[in-house]
Amino acid sequence: MNTINSIPQEVVERVNNLRKQLQEASYAYYVLDKPIMEDAVYDQLYRELQDLEAQYPSLITPDSPTQRVGEKPSNQFTPTPHRIPMYSLENAFNFQELKQWENRWQKQLDAIPEFEYVCELKIDGVAVALTYENGILVRGLTRGDGMTGEDITANIKTIKTIPLRLHIQSPPPILEVRGEVFLPLEEFERINREREEKGESPFANPRNAAAGTIRQLEPKIVSQRKLKFFAYTAHILPEENNILTTQEDTLKYLKQVGFLVNENYQVCPNLEVVKAYLEYWEKKRHQLPYTTDGVVIKINSLNLQKQLGFTQKFPRGAIAYKFPAEETVTRIKEIVLSVGRTGAVTPIAIMEPVFLAGTTVQKATLHNAQHVRELDVRVGDTVVIRKAGEIIPEVVRVIKELRPNNSQPFLMPEKCPECDSLLYQESEAVIRCLNNSCPAILRGNLIHWASRDAMDITGLGEKTVVALMAAGLVKSIPDLYYLTPEKLLPLDKMGKKSADNLIQAINNSKRQPFPRVLYGLGIRHIGAVNAKIIAETFKDIDSLMKASPDELMAIDGIGEEIASSLVSWFKVEQNRQLIDQLKKIGLRLQLEEKLEVKDKKLAGKVFVITGSLPSMTREEAKTIIEKHGGKVNSSISSKVDFLIVGEKPGSKLEKAKKMGIKIINEAEFLSLIGS
Ligand code: NAD
Repeated sequence: MNTINSIPQEVVERVNNLRKQLQEASYAYYVLDKPIMEDAVYDQLYRELQDLEAQYPSLITPDSPTQRVGEKPSNQFTPTPHRIPMYSLENAFNFQELKQWENRWQKQLDAIPEFEYVCELKIDGVAVALTYENGILVRGLTRGDGMTGEDITANIKTIKTIPLRLHIQSPPPILEVRGEVFLPLEEFERINREREEKGESPFANPRNAAAGTIRQLEPKIVSQRKLKFFAYTAHILPEENNILTTQEDTLKYLKQVGFLVNENYQVCPNLEVVKAYLEYWEKKRHQLPYTTDGVVIKINSLNLQKQLGFTQKFPRGAIAYKFPAEETVTRIKEIVLSVGRTGAVTPIAIMEPVFLAGTTVQKATLHNAQHVRELDVRVGDTVVIRKAGEIIPEVVRVIKELRPNNSQPFLMPEKCPECDSLLYQESEAVIRCLNNSCPAILRGNLIHWASRDAMDITGLGEKTVVALMAAGLVKSIPDLYYLTPEKLLPLDKMGKKSADNLIQAINNSKRQPFPRVLYGLGIRHIGAVNAKIIAETFKDIDSLMKASPDELMAIDGIGEEIASSLVSWFKVEQNRQLIDQLKKIGLRLQLEEKLEVKDKKLAGKVFVITGSLPSMTREEAKTIIEKHGGKVNSSISSKVDFLIVGEKPGSKLEKAKKMGIKIINEAEFLSLIGS
């Protein structure tokens, strides 16, 4: 056996450094819920330490990360011992390691019995242990260090997929259930959007968000985030009450007593079938509404599992297979610059196309000038990329050893790549184009205006915006509202039908409520949620334009940054003119009062309006009709009772005449409601 003295100094040093790194990472991950490194990187370093410790066992210390499960429970919650220790799982990173595991457990037995495996998706969440006494949920604990967890019962009770009472007639005296609390992807994205809008830092991944949420001190916040729970282990106590003999039985039982069980499990007779399951889910998992980072393979017979027992950290009868990390390597062909709607210049890496987590990617964001400097990323570099939040790829690091000899550092330009005006260095990170007429800023503003959470104009995506600008048809947001199908027709790939549809969609956007208009203006720091809160407080744009920073900051959730952004936006003459133009066009710049039906004089009557009316806009006429219980349609059909005709009527008049629909003017219309 090696003694410390005979071990090379660099190994001792390396082991110490690895431990230090891993301990720090583990604390950040489990206790702070703020990981400082990627799981894949952690796993790699962990493996290295494990290997060195196997080679030099005298270096093992009891506090080595390889000797512990999780972290000590924090003292924010009451530390509570687990009735049954909560082990972690051994990891396998490839099929070969699964085979080795199978050999290991089989060698432990005198004779190999008949066996099956159960494969379950490894949900990337937080393990919790629940205790039911006589069918009633009495306690929920985190794993903590495996022996002692944190009591999070109040938070657990807010999770709707966890039954507070088991759905069975005669529950066992004690049922211990284990499973994974997780955040569905959609919910994770919603929470992060909300956090970003509030200026809070987003969660790194759904596991992290779930861990941060379940250990919130405020159950009310927990209940607002729609956590879910998949159950996978059940211990019926006392032992003589146990009716479960296999893992498959357990899953069925859990479902029967009221838990959500992940239905994608599969009983597999051997490792070959397990392999097919792994291959299937490695591809398919991106379609799931939650994240999985692997597959847990368990021996189906609970008896056999028990017989095999545990190592210091793991049960021997189960193992976690981890999917290959979502990182890959490619080369940078070019670095281009994109100017966003706020004028911020973002460097983008154009890469050799490469397959990553289900799609071929060839662009990755380099975020900003500072990031480029820090990464020291250059054209020709070989880089590790990954998908951030599983969607947008980003460059993680450069493999400098593979850098070509003649490479040059990338320098940010001094002039805007779109309008050639001098760029303004706002901070270390942010470089901005300040030219309000920069085509990139206008393009960004138009795309944002038309976007789904703003004015939701179908058909007005990036390509159309670019085409409209190139044809000189649109130089500002208001220009959109003066377009006609005829003006659109000469555009490439614009047929009559799409032109009509686009104009219709633009016109329909006039009916979008005030909060969306406010959001659509694209004022910095005003997200959709803030826009709604602000619009609902001030009720109309004129009051909002007069608001002082203090009045704005009096609103819950509105801080100094948002307030000053709004106030300075409204100070700019060009922006005030924009508001005036939008008002003239008839966009909603005030909160709609809830339509109260005044009387039922027009109940059941359907109107269509054509041409311009002498004393009111069509929108106003529509409001009057609706207030009296009537309805307004946009086209003539047999359901229509009246066509109100103003000056320069459209083709609707002819159609209405043909169909014998009653045609009236504004005065006749007003007489219907007695004014
Ligand atoms: P693990 O995540 O590798 O696997 C065990 C866990 O899988 C169980 O505890 C359980 O919570 C979960 N699980 C999900 N579905 C399951 C199912 N169907 N059946 C059984 N269990 C299921 O182990 P761990 O100890 O929770 O965490 C270790 C891992 O955490 C590391 O491999 C690493 O990736 C990550 N980690 C990362 C950092 C970092 O800095 N990024 C630090 C520490 C740990």
